[in-house]
Amino acid sequence: MSRRVPEPTNIEVDREHGLTVEWDDGHGSHFGLEELRLNCPCAECRGLRQRDVAVWPRAGAPEVLRIETAELVGGYGLGIVWNDTHGTGIYSWETLRAWCHCPVCAPE
Ligand SMILES: [Zn+2]
Ligand SMILES: [Zn+2]
Repeated sequence: MSRRVPEPTNIEVDREHGLTVEWDDGHGSHFGLEELRLNCPCAECRGLRQRDVAVWPRAGAPEVLRIETAELVGGYGLGIVWNDTHGTGIYSWETLRAWCHCPVCAPE
């Protein structure tokens, strides 16, 4: 296998259920909303996690997590805005692929 970061050939955003990515090497990944929100890669959320503070739900957050918008960012990732108005996280292909928990990446 090459070390090239795979790129998505298809991205499906389901605002209420999560993100499905098909990769150009044939992999398929699905990410649930909470998983994405809890692992938000922005500096603020990284800081919270380092201090063991919950990233989600924050005080005053809507009860049900939802994606408001998701947009391609510079061809290297996906910027997601959440219904708690948080939207600074950019989920790069590299990050998403590292999280892949398909049967090949995460057997058992
Ligand atoms: Zn964040
Ligand atoms: Zn995989």
